[in-house]
Amino acid sequence: SDVNAPRRIQALSQDVVNKIAAGEIIVAPAHALKELLENAVDAGATQLEIVVKDGGLKLLQITDNGCGIHVSLSLYIVLTPIAHYYLKEDLPLLCERFTTSKLKKFEDLTEIGTYGFRGEALASISHIAHLAVTTRTHDSSCAWKSHYSDGKLVAPKPNQSADPKATAGRQGTQITVEDLFYNVPTRRRAFRSTSEEYTKILDLVSRYSIHCDGVSFSCKKHGESGMALSVPANASTMDRIRQIHGSAVSNELLEFTCTSERWGFTSKGWISNANYSVKKTSFILFINHRSVESANIKKALEQTYATFLPKGGHPFIYLALDIEPHRLDVNVHPTKREVHFLHEDEIIESICDEARTALGNVDTSRTFMTQT
Ligand code: ADP
Ligand code: MG
Repeated sequence: SDVNAPRRIQALSQDVVNKIAAGEIIVAPAHALKELLENAVDAGATQLEIVVKDGGLKLLQITDNGCGIHVSLSLYIVLTPIAHYYLKEDLPLLCERFTTSKLKKFEDLTEIGTYGFRGEALASISHIAHLAVTTRTHDSSCAWKSHYSDGKLVAPKPNQSADPKATAGRQGTQITVEDLFYNVPTRRRAFRSTSEEYTKILDLVSRYSIHCDGVSFSCKKHGESGMALSVPANASTMDRIRQIHGSAVSNELLEFTCTSERWGFTSKGWISNANYSVKKTSFILFINHRSVESANIKKALEQTYATFLPKGGHPFIYLALDIEPHRLDVNVHPTKREVHFLHEDEIIESICDEARTALGNVDTSRTFMTQT
């Protein structure tokens, strides 16, 4: 054929569109888990249990005690199997793209208080994994279990019905994701080691465990009895850091606060003092309760520490930054790992000034103490 002939433009099939979108949002198992964690926190959960197999590629399961997912008129489903045809429940919609209980109009994005808003996470996962959901609300007499594929309810086995099934269960939601990327062989092959993916998962869970006050977390490998990570609901932030990163860090922490009305932010956290120095910076950053990355903030803080630490030494920093929602754009990255906000330079400068003061204060008091 003629290589110079223009190719005809064709619309991609919906299935291809969905798989492409899913691959952008869920790059690795930890991204799927991040979405599931955030959904559980959005649902008001105070208890999160996570089970992982083969770095999350074989199994990711998260059980929460949150509000559950609405299943209206469940009684009628029990009584008459045909009734579901005219019921408007949430379960059939759960995994369709752009269905959400959190955002109604575009303007809501300027004051979004929940982690989720696009209604894409569960849809994406259902396109690239086997997904099962068991959920129970406080006013329901039983839990409901359903299976999803490509955004829709499916039968768990051939010759079975796709309808949600009544089952026993506590209030809350359990999401089971199996065989992630089973139908995306190139992505599946790109994972060299499951332990590397497991490390990313533990890193993510430990970040949320530190940040989410009043929430208990546990994370373990499937089939093992010991927990890889466990934090009780009533643990203080300092306790959480000690449990996860050890007392070598937690004994050397300074409480940190910095706010500015002018730049529209408040921040608090725990940062290591000048006695603590390691090879690599631990930087746990939450902006408006989202775990995000910011190379700019990290670099500026590392520079601030450079004058206090021995050459090549790095700090531990947990920083929770709250920026007035209308100054923040959360919708700049498919995985929501970055956010943009106004007056970034000024905010970073204020935070670094405050850190410098905090580090300096400790230095003088120590010198003073050793002299007397
Ligand atoms: P989003 O979080 O952006 O709304 P998701 O695809 O992550 O989109 O979830 C779709 C909807 O499913 C949510 O809006 C919420 O109503 C419901 N949902 C998901 N996970 C849970 C959960 N763990 N508990 C209660 N409801 C949930
Ligand atoms: Mg979500």
